[in-house]
Amino acid sequence: MALEHLQQQVKIRISQRTKKKGIKWFCCCGLVYILFMIFPRHVDIVGHYLAIQWNDQSESLILLEKLRKNCPCALCQGESTILTQKKAPSLSYSPQSMELKETRIVGSYGLQCFWADGHQTGIYPFSLLYELGKENS
Ligand SMILES: [Zn+2]
Repeated sequence: MALEHLQQQVKIRISQRTKKKGIKWFCCCGLVYILFMIFPRHVDIVGHYLAIQWNDQSESLILLEKLRKNCPCALCQGESTILTQKKAPSLSYSPQSMELKETRIVGSYGLQCFWADGHQTGIYPFSLLYELGKENS
């Protein structure tokens, strides 16, 4: 009884939280799975911003400098192994580091960014881009 009540509460909370984001949830065998369905319909580089129109009709404007400083790749964020802790590398940026030349959708997962300084190992998950865009508003 208590478990059913808890499951119902989780469903209600998830549906309330996900309605605006275009995220769908479904229930299978008593367990709730969340399926993140957010993906970009259009991606443009506009001046110093990356503009993204999402499938939920919302739009994000992400400052390129902010985008670059949140690059998720191992070179920028450091790397963890079983034996070592994640180390934050000391990065130095040039003006070209904040200039975005091109973007490419990678599967249904993320967006690869090609920066003017040659850096291109960062693949930004859509969820990260969505969060970065939300922080601007
Ligand atoms: Zn990087």
